[in-house]
This record gives sequence, structure tokens and C-alpha cells, in this order.
Amino acid sequence: MDWFSVLDERYDSYKETAIEQRRYLFSDVEKLFDNYNLTKTVIGKSVRGQSLYSLAKGNGDKRILLWSQMHGNEPTATLALLDVFRFLSAKDDSFTELRQTILQNCSLCFFPIVNPDGTDDYTRRNAVDIDLNRDALRKQAPETKALFGLKDTFKPHFAFNLHDQRTFYNIGDTAIPATISFLAPSYEVSRAINAPREQSMKLIASINKKVQQLIPGGVGKYSDEFYPTATGDNFQKEGISTVLIESGPFPNDPERQYVRKLNFLLIIQSLYEIATDTYLSATIEEYKAIPDNGKQFFDVLIKNILIDGYQVDLGINLNEKPTKELGLEYDAKIEDLGDLSYYFGHTVLDCEAQHTPEKPLKVGDSATFTILKDEKAKYKLTNGVLTEL
Ligand SMILES: [Zn+2]
Repeated sequence: MDWFSVLDERYDSYKETAIEQRRYLFSDVEKLFDNYNLTKTVIGKSVRGQSLYSLAKGNGDKRILLWSQMHGNEPTATLALLDVFRFLSAKDDSFTELRQTILQNCSLCFFPIVNPDGTDDYTRRNAVDIDLNRDALRKQAPETKALFGLKDTFKPHFAFNLHDQRTFYNIGDTAIPATISFLAPSYEVSRAINAPREQSMKLIASINKKVQQLIPGGVGKYSDEFYPTATGDNFQKEGISTVLIESGPFPNDPERQYVRKLNFLLIIQSLYEIATDTYLSATIEEYKAIPDNGKQFFDVLIKNILIDGYQVDLGINLNEKPTKELGLEYDAKIEDLGDLSYYFGHTVLDCEAQHTPEKPLKVGDSATFTILKDEKAKYKLTNGVLTEL
């Protein structure tokens, strides 16, 4: 049975529609937990005293731990986990067999939102500015202690570390944005492959085949350089098969709701493949063949503009900034200037050496300016948003 395709069609029945945007408060998510048929446990407190929760279901031999949002401004997978909770809580639907296969063979433990204070502030770091994904050795932050405590009591065989990635990643050297990226982290500097890491690689190789059906060419993998203080690397070091999934940009999806759906599908598919051991037929070579992430995208690329007689390209990025009203705005700045011919843009304007900005521009300047041709205004960039005049 190709559950992946059927679930793709029926996703809307399981989507948690209470939250459909990137910016929310931890309390918005917390109050939903009691709606699901999972066992909720308080496993610690954040720096500001917010409760940290695990949610568990299933009683099989294969123990799988999944956590999201160690980085507060990376919300996509948390929303996908809410969809997974709704799916696991449902009864008497066309997925009863799939659900039973997962729950009879696996014990699932979720830690949604490792960083609730960072979620409220929409910051990467926690309330005392520690990057929770670089705290795996000292384990100073209470949020890190909760995650590692969960690992020690639950003793997972598999771990899923769920993040969002920035918009500048592309696949290989192509102009395709990295919508999903994977990594089977290394457990030591030589990047050796032991049995647990081999399982991570095979699982990724197997679920990659599924997601490629939906976003052909849109999947990359991260460098497996060993990060001694990173969480995934240290889980892998303890013999836990660890999978990093990063959610990235998809065209016309600023709230990443399509990528949320991809996460949901990938997570259910992973659980099913672990439950049935089907991923074991994939190979390390298939994992290695997934193209590496490039870093060649700007949000806006202005090509061949004339500044003081020099023909240059401008690379502009839109940096997310949380607003007091629980929204997001963008702080658009010129990140690079010069020969950017080996870069791509989510939005591209080629000035063909016939246009000039109304004022001289430098790296770090705000991306708000008018572009002239023959002294007439032709285009306007307003905080990174391009309009033709
Ligand atoms: Zn992250």
C-alpha cells in the first residue's frame, strides 16, 4: 500500500487548522495538547518557567524520539507535529491499518517546542541567548537538560531533530530552492559510518524517494562535518540513529504551509518505514547521491545595475523580524554587491546595464530605493519588495 500518496490526498482531514501561520505564542500550542489522545508529561521548565512537555503514544519495541523548534524562529515542524498528533488520535478512518502498524511496532515520544521562550520572542536562541543546538556537551540550559533527560529515560533507537532553514539554500548548483534538506549527522570528526548512522542514511534515502515525487529535485543534504557541541551529532555518538530534517522555502509559500504538509507526510512515512523495516532496502549510496545544499540564493537579485559607472549585481535578503502584534515583517538589506553572476534570486531583475539607482548604494544599506532609466523612475524597491513603475 502506498500510504504516502493516499495521505497526500487526505492531508486536510488531519491538519490542525487552529494555527496556520509561522508566528504564534507557545501558549497557543500548549493549549492544544489536551485535544489529542496522547500521554502528556511535564519534563521540565524553560528559563522563564514555561512548562516543557513530552507527548507519547504507542507501545512497540522500536522507540522513536522526535523534537521540534530548538530554535524559536523555526516553527514549521511544530505545526506538522500537531497534524501528526491529530492523525494519531483519529479513529475508524481509512488509515486504521497504517496507524496500528505504527503504534504496535513503535513507541513514539514527541517533544514539540524545545525552546518556548524563543518561540514567544521569535528568536533562534533561548531566553539567556544560548543556542540550544550548541549546548549538547555542557547542557547548561534547562531546555537542553529536559531533552537529554528525555533521551536518558526513553532510550530512543531513532531520533528526529526538526528545524527550518533560511531562504539562501539551493540544491547543488541549480536554481532550485532547498525546500527540504536532510542530514545523517556524523558522530566523530572522521565522518565514519557505523551501524546506527548507516540506518539514519538508509531511512533518509528511502523517504527521499517519496518526497521527490512531490518536489522533484527540491531535496538537498547538509554537510556532515562533525559539530562537537550539536545535539544531533551527540545523539548519533550515543548510537541513536538520528535524522535532521530542515524545512525551507517553496514558491509562493511564505508561511511554509506546503512545507508543513511535506513534514507531516515525511514523519508519518518515516514512522511507517521504521515500524516495518522497509527503509533497510535503501542504500548508503542512495543517501550519498542526494545533492548537497548550496548557498547561492538571495531573496532579491538585481543584476547589472550601474553604480558610479560600475556595472554590479546587488544581492538582497529579507530578514524576518517579529512584530509586537504577533506578526512578522521583513528587514531587507543589501547583503552583497559586485559580481554575483553565480547566484540566483527568488526575485530577479536584470537592469541590462541601462539602469542606475537614485542614490549610491553600499553593502548594509536598506533595500528601499528607486531605480532610474534615462533619469525616469522605472522600478521601486520598498523594503525588498520590487514594483515596476
Ligand atoms: Zn535550527
